[in-house]
Amino acid sequence: MKRRTFIQNTAIGGLGISTGLAALACGNTSENESASKDEKMLVGSLPLVIATWDVKEATAKAWEVMQNGGSSLDAIEQGCKVEEANAEGQSVGIGGLPDREGNVTLDACIMNAAGDYGAVVYLQNILHPISVARKVMEETPHVLLAGKGAEQFAFEQGFEKTNLLTEASKKAWEEWKITSQYKPIINIENHDTIGMLAIDENGDISGGCTTSGLAYKMAGRVGDSPIIGSGLFVDNEVGAATATGLGEEVLKTVGSFLIVELMRQGKSPQEACEEAVNRIVKKNSERIKDFQVGYIAVNKQGETGAYGIHEGFVYTVYQNENNEKHIPDFYLKNS
Ligand code: ASP
Repeated sequence: MKRRTFIQNTAIGGLGISTGLAALACGNTSENESASKDEKMLVGSLPLVIATWDVKEATAKAWEVMQNGGSSLDAIEQGCKVEEANAEGQSVGIGGLPDREGNVTLDACIMNAAGDYGAVVYLQNILHPISVARKVMEETPHVLLAGKGAEQFAFEQGFEKTNLLTEASKKAWEEWKITSQYKPIINIENHDTIGMLAIDENGDISGGCTTSGLAYKMAGRVGDSPIIGSGLFVDNEVGAATATGLGEEVLKTVGSFLIVELMRQGKSPQEACEEAVNRIVKKNSERIKDFQVGYIAVNKQGETGAYGIHEGFVYTVYQNENNEKHIPDFYLKNS
């Protein structure tokens, strides 16, 4: 992208570019430095929000927070809360499908531009695990709290006890128990677990990930979503990535950290997402027809990327005043 295009984009983006970042992109370059230097510094306009699946209400909330001067961290928390509170979504927050015992157990994490991280795993009875994760990050000497301890901490922080098992999810679980066949259904079961990345007008990157995990999982199972480096990773110097899909495969390849490190080595977000999916595919050539993994990523320059194993995975980007669903490329087309 030429400098001119960048300036055009800035104009289209309107409110998008902060003085701080614009200075980073333009002000400090000497006269004879070329446009290509600018190109490296900022490609897309800011702020920017990108999230797994079709979650326009969540990305709109995150965008609104940043338009009102909030940080990317505030945007992530508020954006993720929208999906957590959506009882229709059966893979995150209230209404999430339960484990085999009928318990809705939640995993979530959040990471800020300073590289701080907080997470909760196997949390029950709390509507907003992303907010508890933020409290873990900001109010404790730890980074990850599990199960009863996490629940106890949430109560101490003023979170209320909430029944997360809706009638619809209870009914689905009761029907599932008739056969008790464990067969994850690609793209249906996982349609709205939310991984979200945001860059605010200061150019600071934050991310969050929140889920009820796989439906009918074994009691005690924890997926990739709350685990630093797997379901989410943020490095404010480089970029950020987050994952959705079969957490076991993401965990085994430490996918989000891998993507960020690949971007550090010079790959674009798109190339890095493709490489992370390819690592999983190589290990599972026989099995990949049976499971989905999708990644999204953003780099410090505001470029985005996404890639999935199967068609069906979508993601949402809010940038330049546009809040849109996108369809990425896939490893297996027409599967
Ligand atoms: N990655 C999540 C997990 O394995 C599930 C999902 O993304 O839907 O718990």
